[in-house]
Amino acid sequence: PTLRPDPLPEDSSGDDRALRPQTLDAFIGQAEARANLRIFIQSARQRGEAMDHTLFHGPPGLGKTTLAQIMARELGVNFRMTSGPVLAKAGDLAAILTNLEARDVLFIDEIHRLNPAVEEVLYPALEDFELDLVIGEGPAARTVRIELQPFTLVGATTRMGLLTTPLRDRFGIPTRLQFYTEDELFEIVSRNARKLGAPAAAEGAREIARRARGTPRIAGRLLRRVVDFAVVEGDGTITQELADNALTRLGVDRLGLDGADRRYLRLIAEHYSGGPVGIETLSAALSESRDALEEVIEPYLLQQGLIQRTPRGRMLAQRAWAHLGLPMPRPQSD
Ligand code: ADP
Repeated sequence: PTLRPDPLPEDSSGDDRALRPQTLDAFIGQAEARANLRIFIQSARQRGEAMDHTLFHGPPGLGKTTLAQIMARELGVNFRMTSGPVLAKAGDLAAILTNLEARDVLFIDEIHRLNPAVEEVLYPALEDFELDLVIGEGPAARTVRIELQPFTLVGATTRMGLLTTPLRDRFGIPTRLQFYTEDELFEIVSRNARKLGAPAAAEGAREIARRARGTPRIAGRLLRRVVDFAVVEGDGTITQELADNALTRLGVDRLGLDGADRRYLRLIAEHYSGGPVGIETLSAALSESRDALEEVIEPYLLQQGLIQRTPRGRMLAQRAWAHLGLPMPRPQSD
C-alpha cells in the first residue's frame, strides 16, 4: 500500500511540505497546463478580479493540490481546502463560503463526491457569488440570500465522468493533468534528493524516475525508501545499483508496476486467456473496488499500453504478455 498513489499521513509531513514546489516556475512538468494557468493568473491579477473557477482532473498524485496552492500564492490570496466527502450538509459549505475573503482560492478535493444538497448550494455561489439558505423548518421556513465575496473554486477529481453536467459546466478552466515523463520525474527526484540532503548519482535518480509510475507522489515515496536503504546498507549515496536493489525488494518492477498491478495483469492472462473480461468480474476476483481499479490501477496500465479497454471488457496487450514473461495465446479462429 505504500506504493499506491493515494495520499498517506506521511505525505503531509514536514518533509513533504518542504518538497512541494511553491511557484509555477518551480513546478516541473504539465507544461501546457502551466502555460495556460500563468496567463489566467496574470490576467486576474491585472484586472483585480477573482480568477475563473478551475477544475483539475487526472489520476491521484499528479499535482492537483499542489497547483491549487501555487495558484493561491501567485494570486496573492488565501488558500482554503476541503473535500467533497467532508462537506456533509449545505451548512458546512455555507460556513466556509461566508468566511472567504475577496478573490480567495477554495480548493475542493474529490469534488465528484459532493452530496447533491451541497452541490445545489454551490451553483448560485459559483455563478453569482450568492448563497440561498433555508432557515427554519416547515411553515416557518424562509430563504435568506447572502452575498459572498467573489472567490475562485478549484475543484479536483480523479473521475471526470462522475461529475454532474451542471457542475462541470460551471468551471471556466477545465485542466487535465497527464502522467509525467521519465525526464520530468528525473528532475523532480534529483531536486528532492538534494533537498533531503541525500546525494543521488544521475543513474540512481533515473532508476527511481523510471519506476515511479509516471507519478510525482510515488517518486517521492520511492525516493524516501531508497534513502533508507542508502543510509543503512550503503554510504548514503543513491547509486543505480542501490536504487535497483531497494526497488526490487519493495516489489516495484522494471516498469514501475507493483504487486497489485501484476495481480491484475496475471488474473486476465491466466484466468481469462487475455480477455476481454468485464470490470465487475475483475473487481470481484481481485477484491478491489471498481473505483480503485478505474482510478488507480488502470490509468497507468492503459497509458503504458499494457491493457486495452474494449466494449466487451479489458484485454491484455501484447506488451503485457511480454512483461509477464508469458506466451501470447494464438487468436482463436471461430
Ligand atoms: P494530487 O492532488 O493530484 O493527488 P498532490 O498535489 O498532492 O497530488 O501531489 C502529490 C505529491 O507529489 C506531493 O508530495 C507533491 O509535492 C508532489 N508533486 C506533485 N507534482 C509535482 C511536481 N510537478 N514537481 C514536484 N513535486 C510534485
